[in-house]
Amino acid sequence: MANEVESSPNSYPMNGGNGCHSYVQNSHFQRALLHAAKDVITEAIVEKVDITNPWFNSSSTLRVADFGCSVGPNTFIVVQNIIEALELLYRSKQHNPEIPEFHVFFNDHVHNDFNTLFRSLPFSHRYFAAGVPGSFHDRLFPKSTLHIVHASYALHWLSQVPTQLADRNSPAWNKGRIHGLGATSKEVREAFSAQFGKDLQAFLNARARELVGGGLMLLLVSALPNEFHSSQTNSAIVLDLLGSCLIDMAKMGIISEDNVDSFNLPIYRTCPGELEAFIEKNGHFKIEKMEELSNPVRRDPPDFQMLSSHLRATFEGALEEHFGNEIMDELFDRFTNKIGENSHIIYDQQYIKEIEIFISLKHTVTDYEV
Ligand code: SAH
Repeated sequence: MANEVESSPNSYPMNGGNGCHSYVQNSHFQRALLHAAKDVITEAIVEKVDITNPWFNSSSTLRVADFGCSVGPNTFIVVQNIIEALELLYRSKQHNPEIPEFHVFFNDHVHNDFNTLFRSLPFSHRYFAAGVPGSFHDRLFPKSTLHIVHASYALHWLSQVPTQLADRNSPAWNKGRIHGLGATSKEVREAFSAQFGKDLQAFLNARARELVGGGLMLLLVSALPNEFHSSQTNSAIVLDLLGSCLIDMAKMGIISEDNVDSFNLPIYRTCPGELEAFIEKNGHFKIEKMEELSNPVRRDPPDFQMLSSHLRATFEGALEEHFGNEIMDELFDRFTNKIGENSHIIYDQQYIKEIEIFISLKHTVTDYEV
């Protein structure tokens, strides 16, 4: 099994199309953070982009990339915020404001539904748009081409599940659990953290080559508070319920227990201290700002169906590849019911510990040579 996991591509884009299980219809949670982050993004751009830097000359084209953009509409909101902030900056700093042209690149896995994305491109967008398929853990652009890089709710997706988790003989074997969020086992936690560190280094190294000197990277990252290791967090509880639906289905003979044991979601929640340490170790970026945000709808009153649909739009790709498409309707019907039965725990405020980290990074090449 370990080999199977190792060789699997681990590319699980969000559900495509516009249907009831699509990301388009089930991403209001992520969208709420993007609205809440508008001011910090504007501030980061206005304060930290140096328009006397020749790379940012107003007569050239400025290139913006959103990594892990999915199918919209969220990416259009953040891109619009970035373009407006850049326009504001150029208007405010020059006597004869010349606004550069903008080229925006939308990146996601090759299997992402780019058709839906481009069909819904806002009518009035003030930029040239292009799609860039491929994993953001690899190089995707020629060197020194990007001016502003953005990624939201994307870096917690790992390039693979750490192989030890599906290995029965490893102390990190994650039997009976389908994720490692708030893992109570030290071995599971360390395996996920090491994988995240490796993936983040790959992401930062690739972007360091692609960004121009003085270019900015704006990241919104799912996280937990420092040193907070507990399976008693809202997201871990919810995913444990999803796992328990799979276990119930294994007990009924619908799927095999082995299949459940060998499944893990390739996701990880870092914490501010760890994220900072990994970025400093990488050395290509200066941390300009790091701030804890909190998604404003996280504490909203429960809606069981909405929560179930939200998780389906996000995780169905990964589940489907492992268990097959036939069990998805039954799995998520069971899950919706379980959410209803356990709503008092899921929405207990004491377990809502998740945070988002906004981090603004400047590429530290200082010679600005164009
Ligand atoms: N940024 C959007 C979408 C977040 S969902 C928003 O805030 O709403 C996370 C997205 O990251 C998914 O579309 C997923 O396919 C993408 N993703 C995850 N790992 C990736 C990788 N290695 N390369 C490119 N995209 C990736």
